[in-house]
Amino acid sequence: MKGYAGKLLRVDLSRKSFKAETLPRRWPRKFLGGMGFATALLFSETKKGLNPLNTENKLIVAPGLLTGTGISTASKTLFITKSPLTGGFGKASAGASIGPAFKKAGYDFLVIEGKSEKPVVVAVTDDEVKFDDAGELWGKNVRETAALLKKRYAGSSSAVIGPAGETLSKIAGIDSNERQAARTGVGAVMGSKKLKAIAVKGTSRVDYADAEALRDLVIRWTKNIRENPDSKLDMKYGTAEFYAWMNQDKGVHPSRNWQQGYFQESFDSIKQGKLTQLDPYYWSPKYTVRNKPCPNCTKPCGRIVRINGGKYAGTEIDGPEYETIYSLGSSLEIDNFEAVCHIHMMCDLYGLDAISAGLTISWAMEAFEKGILEKEDFDSLELKFGDVDATLEVLRRMAYREGKVGVLLSDGVKAASEKLGRGSSHFAMHSKGLELPAYDARGIKGMGLAMAVAVRGGDHLTAVAYGTELVGKWWKFSGVDRFSAENKGYEIKVHEDLMTLYDIFGVCKFTRHMFFAEAYPEMVKAVTGMELGLDDLFTIGERVYNLQRAFNVREGLDRKADSLPPRVFEDPIPKGASKNSRIKRSEFERMLDDYYQARGWSWNGIPTKVKLISLDLQDVAEEVGA
Ligand code: SF4
Repeated sequence: MKGYAGKLLRVDLSRKSFKAETLPRRWPRKFLGGMGFATALLFSETKKGLNPLNTENKLIVAPGLLTGTGISTASKTLFITKSPLTGGFGKASAGASIGPAFKKAGYDFLVIEGKSEKPVVVAVTDDEVKFDDAGELWGKNVRETAALLKKRYAGSSSAVIGPAGETLSKIAGIDSNERQAARTGVGAVMGSKKLKAIAVKGTSRVDYADAEALRDLVIRWTKNIRENPDSKLDMKYGTAEFYAWMNQDKGVHPSRNWQQGYFQESFDSIKQGKLTQLDPYYWSPKYTVRNKPCPNCTKPCGRIVRINGGKYAGTEIDGPEYETIYSLGSSLEIDNFEAVCHIHMMCDLYGLDAISAGLTISWAMEAFEKGILEKEDFDSLELKFGDVDATLEVLRRMAYREGKVGVLLSDGVKAASEKLGRGSSHFAMHSKGLELPAYDARGIKGMGLAMAVAVRGGDHLTAVAYGTELVGKWWKFSGVDRFSAENKGYEIKVHEDLMTLYDIFGVCKFTRHMFFAEAYPEMVKAVTGMELGLDDLFTIGERVYNLQRAFNVREGLDRKADSLPPRVFEDPIPKGASKNSRIKRSEFERMLDDYYQARGWSWNGIPTKVKLISLDLQDVAEEVGA
C-alpha cells in the first residue's frame, strides 16, 4: 500500500536477532499509522501485570504517518511502552530526526524486545541491523554519547539515554539529537534493556499515492503556517511567549510547587512594569543564538540559547520552553534565567524528564520548608526554594541514584511521597504518577479534568485543552468558561480524539489552531490513497484512545486512578487573577461522570463492551469491556 513501507522491524536484544515482518493487512485502515500501530501491538503482545523493567516489556519507536512527508511540522516520533512511572500506557514524543531516518530505512516502525547482557547500540541501515558494543558509551551523558555516535555512524540519526536511563530512574527520558522524548520513564525501559543507543541511517524513498498532490499540500500548508501571526511569535519567543499572560493576566502559572498560581517575584516585576528574567521578551533577544527546528518544521519555536559569561558561562541548550521555565524556574522559585538554563542543560545531559525532575525537587523543597524532610534523610544536604547550587547537586544525585537523595527522589514525586509519608502526598503534584505540567488546574477546570483522565498521567498534551479553556473558544467550541466545571466531558473527549490523530500523524500540536482537523483527509489521501472523511478519522482517533484506555484498565487503572493531588481540591489559589479558585471534589466527580458518559464508558471509567465493539475492537471488549 502506498504511503507505508508495509513492514515493521522487530529486534530481539536477548538473541541479538532481527526480522522484518509484514504489517497486518487491516492495520492501515483501522489504526492509520505510527502510534496507532504501536498501541495495537503493545496491547496484544504484553500481558497484564508485566513489570515494565523486565525483559518482556517492549519499546516501540513509531514515526507518524506524515512524518517525513514534507508537511510542515510533521516531525514527531513516538516512543511507546508500558510505563515504569505510571504502570500504564507509556508514551513520549519528540520532533526527532530518527523518525524520518527510520522510514527511509524501509520500515513503518520498530519494536525492541528482550534485554542485552552488556550495553549495546542497535545500528539500523537499509537491510541490516548490527548489535555493537556500547561499553565505551555507558556512563556518558547524552551529548557525549551523541558525539561519539556521530563519529561511529556517520550520517545516522540517533536516540540515546543518559546516566538516568542507565540507573533506571523512572523519570528518565530518551534524547534524539537534542530533542527529548522525556515523559513516562521511557528512558528507564531503554536502560533496563541495556540499550544505550539506537542509530539509524536509511536511503530508500517512501512511495506516495499522489506525489504531486502531496507536493501542493506541502506548499500550501507551509505558506499558511508561515503567514499565521502566531508562527511569528513562536519563532521569536518560543512556547514561553505567553508566560506573562499566564502569570499575571490569568494567574494560572503554578509556582512554588503549586503553592501559588503565579510566580510572586516575576509577578511583582511585571506589576512594576519591568520584564521578569523568565519572560522570553527579556531573555530571547539577549541569549538566542539561532532557531532550532524539528525536522520539516517551518515555524521553529525551538531556539539554541548560549550563556557567554558569569557563573554559568558555557551553558548552551535547546530551550528553555514554557514547561521548563515553570518546572525549573517558577516551581523552584528561581528567577535567574542563566541558572534556569544551566539546570535545564544538566537535566537534558543526564537524560532526566525536566518537568518530572523539577516537580520532584520542588516537592522536596516544600517538604523541607514544612519540616517533614530533614538533612538526616537527605545526605546532610538542605534544599530551600530558590537554592540553585543545592538543586544542581540534588539533580546529579537523582540521575546517578546516589545516596539517600537518589533513593528518595530518582523515581519521581509519587514514589518519593509514598516513601516519605508524613502527609507529603498532599503536595506531590502528579496524576497516575506523572508530574503535572504548567497549568494550574484550580483556575482551568477543564484542564484539571484533562490532566486527571489522560492515559499517560498528568499531562497537557493528551487533550491540549488549555487554549480552549483560557481563550474560551477554539475550533468548534465557544463560550467555554475556565472557572466552571460544567459541560467539560464532551470538550475533553473531542480534544483527546483529535490529539490522538495528531500523534498518529506525527504533526506538531503547536499547529492545532492552524490545521484544526479539516486539513487531514486530503493529506491522508495524497499519502496513502485512502479516502477517509473527518468522521472516519475521528473514529480512528477514538479507537486508538479507547485501546490505550483499555491497556490501563487491564492494569487496574480505573476511576480511582483518574485523580488529582489533594492540593487541587483543598488549597485555593491564594492570590492573583485566579484568587480563591479550586476544584471542589463534588465538581470533580461530576466532571468525571460527564466525561465517562461522553466517552460511552461505565460509571467506573471502563470502556463498555458496546463501545469497544462499535469501534471494531471485539477482542478487547472480550478482555476488558464493562
Ligand atoms: S513548532 Fe516547535 S515543537 Fe513544533 S515542530 Fe516546530 S520546532 Fe518542533
